[in-house]
Amino acid sequence: MTLFDSPDFEGHEAIHAFSDEATGLKCIIAVHSTARGPAAGGCRMWPFPTSEDALQDALRLSRAMSYKNAMADLDLGGGKAVIIGDSRTQKTPALFEAFGRAVEAVGGAYWTAEDVGVSPADLMHARKHTRYVAGLEGHPAASGDPSPVTAEGVFRGVQLCVRRRLGRELDGVTVALQGVGHVGAYLADKLHAAGARLIITDVNADALQAVAARTGAQVVAPDEIFDVEAEVFAPCALGGAVSAETLPRLKAKVIAGGANNQLADPAVGKTLFDLGLLYAPDYVINGGGIINVAGEIRALDAGTAYDPAWVEGKLARLMQTLEEVLDRSAAEKRPTHEVAGEMARERIARGRAAAAAA
Ligand code: NAD
Repeated sequence: MTLFDSPDFEGHEAIHAFSDEATGLKCIIAVHSTARGPAAGGCRMWPFPTSEDALQDALRLSRAMSYKNAMADLDLGGGKAVIIGDSRTQKTPALFEAFGRAVEAVGGAYWTAEDVGVSPADLMHARKHTRYVAGLEGHPAASGDPSPVTAEGVFRGVQLCVRRRLGRELDGVTVALQGVGHVGAYLADKLHAAGARLIITDVNADALQAVAARTGAQVVAPDEIFDVEAEVFAPCALGGAVSAETLPRLKAKVIAGGANNQLADPAVGKTLFDLGLLYAPDYVINGGGIINVAGEIRALDAGTAYDPAWVEGKLARLMQTLEEVLDRSAAEKRPTHEVAGEMARERIARGRAAAAAA
């Protein structure tokens, strides 16, 4: 297996591999950067076919967290944990206790939280052995479900992009919304309240029906969402919604949504820019969730309660950052995803320089 010569290795500071025979834990904790503060990012449990696949995911996801945390202007670096296993059949309290010991062994350079396949209840077991766990429930520092905060950031981002690209407010604007799960449903409510017209899709019929009943949204089949007449396309389902195959079908002038990894590949970001579409980089516009988690880490560190005013301040700052990305993209005539990547690397480098000077 390759590590330092992997295409996904980008100056990662540390890669920790842990195994615990007694509980069956096999886990990788990747610390991409601690330049701005301790690395933070969720723990994913997934039945990776090979340990190489798990490593690749850990490398990619931890780097993405560095970028996201930097763009959210948090004093946090980027990290991620992956546990190799099937979350439906292989979860035990003992396994998550072993995971907690692994996080503790990283010595505070990595804060964990939930991600795909991992719940707050699982993390309660990890918490018995380490304090570096966010996303728990039932204590004063707890930040709760991040989805409403993510949706609020995405809503403000959609509003900003519509003003910039279409020169109007959301009233009467048609938004094609893919995925009405946690983030998508909150976003639908906010867009509806702002007067937007909604066209929604999901593979979950119950979720669709509930949102349509509340908002009067038009419902279409999952594959039809790419062909509808809409000014905004808001991906809020899985990654890769904007691809060489779907892009030519989109009528929208703005792509802005909550999903991670919306661009199937970087080339599609260049194509959409050349076509005159405005794309809000996913890890910028959806930073509300990690801001919420950072609010919990901050409170746990200080022994205080979660402070919604601090979270609101960071959310407002996130919108300034998105505006800066759009300004630079327009001034330099470069795709927004390229500009955002450059800004994130600049912010991480500034953090490194400040840490070296201290
Ligand atoms: P979720 O699982 O609650 O919602 C996703 C929805 O997408 C589900 O309702 C699912 O049925 C639907 N879906 C799946 N495949 C689909 C398809 N092919 N077509 C249409 N719908 C489909 O997840 P979520 O927490 O709402 O997150 C949504 C996206 O936002 C994910 O990409 C996630 O990584 C990202 N994100 C979430 C947060 C957060 O705070 N929850 C923060 C940042 C980023």
